[in-house]
Order: sequence, then C-alpha cells, then structure tokens
Amino acid sequence: MGLFNKLALIAQARKTLNEMGIDPFNVEIEEILSPTEARIAGRRVLLAGTNNYLGLTFDPQCIEAACQATRSEGTGTTGSRMANGTFSGHRALERELAEFFGCAKAIVFSTGFVANLGVISTLTGPGDTVIIDGDSHASIYDGCRMGGADILRFRHNDAADLEKRLRRLGDRAKNALVIVEGIYSMLGDRAPLAEIVSLKKQYGFWLMVDEAHSLGVLGKKGRGLVEEDGCMGDVDFIVGTFSKSLGAIGGFCVSNHPELDLVRYASRSYLFTASPSPATIASVRQALQALAAGADLRERLWANARKLYEGLSELGYRLGPEPTPVVAVYMGSKEETLACWKELLDNGIYVNLVLPPAAPEGKSLLRCSVSAAHTEEQVKRIVYMFKDLAAKVSLQHAPA
Ligand code: PMP
Repeated sequence: MGLFNKLALIAQARKTLNEMGIDPFNVEIEEILSPTEARIAGRRVLLAGTNNYLGLTFDPQCIEAACQATRSEGTGTTGSRMANGTFSGHRALERELAEFFGCAKAIVFSTGFVANLGVISTLTGPGDTVIIDGDSHASIYDGCRMGGADILRFRHNDAADLEKRLRRLGDRAKNALVIVEGIYSMLGDRAPLAEIVSLKKQYGFWLMVDEAHSLGVLGKKGRGLVEEDGCMGDVDFIVGTFSKSLGAIGGFCVSNHPELDLVRYASRSYLFTASPSPATIASVRQALQALAAGADLRERLWANARKLYEGLSELGYRLGPEPTPVVAVYMGSKEETLACWKELLDNGIYVNLVLPPAAPEGKSLLRCSVSAAHTEEQVKRIVYMFKDLAAKVSLQHAPA
C-alpha cells in the first residue's frame, strides 16, 4: 500500500458504494441529448443537477463559433500565454469581459478554479489576512493556503460574525481581503452583499466576489450579485467561471484596479498552464453576448427556479434558505440520501448527491438545479418524482 495508505478511508467508502451497486460519483453520461436530457445506464434521464443555468451548451451560434475557430486556429494553444503566445481571441475576450462588467481590466484563466488559485495566492501572502465565508468553494480555500496569508473564516452568510473578526483585527482590517460568493453552490443562497459593502465602508478592507453561480443568473444584464445589489463600484475583484452559465470552460477576474494586469506575471496558475483553446474562447465570446442580451432566458430560469422551490417546499421538504436556480434538499442519514438519489435516477431524474464533508453543516443533501432550458413539464416531472419519494422518507431534516 505505502503511499496509498492515506486513501484507506476512501477505499472503504468506495467498496461500500460498489456493494450497493451504485456509484453516484462516477455517473457515466452515455449520450448527451440536450441541455436537459441525457442517456444514463441505458435510459433517458432528465438532468436536474447541472450548472447549465442558461442552457447555452447547445446554443447553435456558440457551437458554430467554436467550430469555425477550431477550423481556422486549430484544436489547442499547446501552452501558456506567457511562454507560447497570446491568441488574439484571448485579448478580445478580455476586452469584452471588461466592457461587460464596466471594469478597467480583465484576465482570462484556464478554469474558474485556477482563477481563484492564481488571483488569491498572488494578491495575498505571509503577513496578510484573508477573511472568507466558512462555506467557500475549495478553490478559494486552496488559493488562500497557496498564498500563505492568515486565513480567518466567518459563519456562513453572517455579516455580524464577519464584523466581529474585522473588529478584532484592528488596524490590519483595512488591508484584509474579504471573499464571498454571489450564489453559494450547495445551498443556493446569496451573500449579504449590501451589508458587507457597508462594513467595507467602515473598515476599508478589499472585497472579492466569486460570481461562479450567479453570472448570467442575477442582475439585469446578468452580471451577478454585484449588479443585482447595485454594488458595482464597491467591489475590488470579481472572479467567475465560463463553465456554468456560459456553457464552456475557463475562468476570469475583472477589476477596476489598473494593477490587476501585474497579477498575470506572478500567478503560477496563469503562467504555467495552457491557455484556453480557440474553440473555448470563441464559444465563450458568443455566449457572453447571449448572456448579456438574455433577459428572457433569465426570466425563464427564475420561473423554473421558483416552481421547483415551491413544489418541493409544498411536499414538505426542507430546502436551502431562498429560491434560486440551486435548490438544496436536506435529507437524513447518508444511507437514506444515497437510496433516494438512486431511486430518483431509477425514475429518470439526475440530481447531485452531496455528502459530508462536502455538504455544509455536515448535512446530506440532494442538490437540484434548474436551467432556462427546462420546460414547465420537465420541472413538474422533477417535483412529481420527489413526491413519490416523500412518502418513503422522513422530511423533517431541518438545518440546526
Ligand atoms: N468558484 C465556485 C464558487 C465554484 O462553484 C466553482 C465550480 N464549482 C469554481 C469556482 C470553479 O470553477 P471551474 O469549474 O471553472 O473550475
């Protein structure tokens, strides 16, 4: 075993899953039929656990842009922009992102994960303090660790707890970096941004918002929670991903600080990894246009989100704190959650299984998400299948 000893607990868990005849963490999508349907284990399944919020993965113009770019520029860039050159598409996308957000500067990264790693670990280091929400994404935690700053966590979405930590920091608070997310990926709730911005006015810290799940979802133009809450001028850095509402892969950071450009030259996850492919860049540029003009898509998305949230709530399920396109359903034991997940899949509904420690507060969740591409009938079907399940499980699994 040797090096693999440390994975013994994982091996045990894998064995248990295999014995149950299901593997929720290795689901093979045999055929992807549309933004909302796939063939899994030989049957047609309704996808209620993607991050395809606007349904743009099959947008004909995005597909065409990607195909054209591949034909004219090839399948890959084969290296990093620093060592192997920037394609004009990278620059164009950065200009378009900056313009979309009304910011001075933008940097494109190869994924949202490495955008967080690169920006956070470059801006903060030993002697600095980063204050993050306890439910932050792994890439935020890892970026903080990589930089070597002191890491403070505040209770999830609790601005009063954040203030307590700021007060304790005294003079150091004004140089701290506070990081929150537009919509949290597991519970689907938003950061209390207006309260945090008023703390920023009082304590003077730097503020970063990760809009991974809120880009294209919140705000009149789809710019995220920062736009929705009218805080565009108060946030120092917005990071995000191309992998969710934009239907591709990649990440970015935008800012009004002109020095943002310097981050490129010191960020290891920008310097030492290949830049996004021509197809990716071209489809994201096209998707960004669709997203900016997509008020009708957002309307459909929110109508679906509210229907799913209300439907599941009426069945008696305990859900995440507010209706958004991410609807978290609190379940009981791990075993019960697994069995429910399997039953839903057997009935043609794919949702995300979230077990501790990945789930907040040590709870087991079934994470559902909706897309603008879901039809009303599809949302009804999701609710209907949860109704079948409700008869079999105890529903009173409220968060503490
Ligand atoms: N930040 C948050 C909040 C996320 O949820 C995710 C992805 N789940 C990322 C960053 C990373 O994005 P990507 O998939 O582009 O690496």
